[in-house]
Amino acid sequence: MEIEIDFVAVRRLTSREYGQARQEIASLGIAAAFAQSQQRHDERLASAADAPALACKAGCSWCCHFSVDVRAVEAFRILDYVREHFSLAEQERVRQEIAKNSLEVAPLDDLERMKRTVRCPFLVEGRCSIYPVRPQTCRNYHATDAAGCQKSYEEPDNLDIDPEFAPLVYQAGGAHVEAFARAMEDAGFDVTAYELNVALTAAMTEPASRERFEAGQAPFESTQGDEVPSEFMEER
Ligand code: SF4
Repeated sequence: MEIEIDFVAVRRLTSREYGQARQEIASLGIAAAFAQSQQRHDERLASAADAPALACKAGCSWCCHFSVDVRAVEAFRILDYVREHFSLAEQERVRQEIAKNSLEVAPLDDLERMKRTVRCPFLVEGRCSIYPVRPQTCRNYHATDAAGCQKSYEEPDNLDIDPEFAPLVYQAGGAHVEAFARAMEDAGFDVTAYELNVALTAAMTEPASRERFEAGQAPFESTQGDEVPSEFMEER
């Protein structure tokens, strides 16, 4: 689906989010600043003028069978949430599923990953069990007709399927995420994108990864991740 971006609105949003994120990273620290930013992210998505057109609803989970990218800051937040809210048995189930998925997707390149369905370890009875801390990719993924999502799930090899999106939700979500990432990067933090299962495995098996991240270093030794190209902010 072709989307026409309103660059004036995008510049207003990115400038506001960038400024607030820089100030909160400096005053609250990266983890708390990210939590605040995720709250604004949800508010921006919900207040986009075309948000009422979304077909996404609790119990619809076609998109939770595809590869998701996260930044390290998200992986650490998810693991904290799991430790705080999941029973020990649930933590063990999730750990095993993450390890299994990680082995499956780690050797794949981007295109191969796009063509593979991998059930998210946090999908429980059709719902997201980490909803308050779900990745930014999940927050931004949306459709106005679930039929396209179902078709993508049923035909993962068919990359010509193009589900219908809500343009204003798309630009609000994308611009928000890029502005926070730019603020993180300018404050010296890693903004590389990692596959969700691979990042969680690295975060769990490399005890020093969080310390490295908070010190402004590359957090993981077992995975390199990918740079994310800018769509809403100027490239540098
Ligand atoms: S984290 Fe939640 S929303 Fe994202 S893919 Fe997994 S179950 Fe779905």
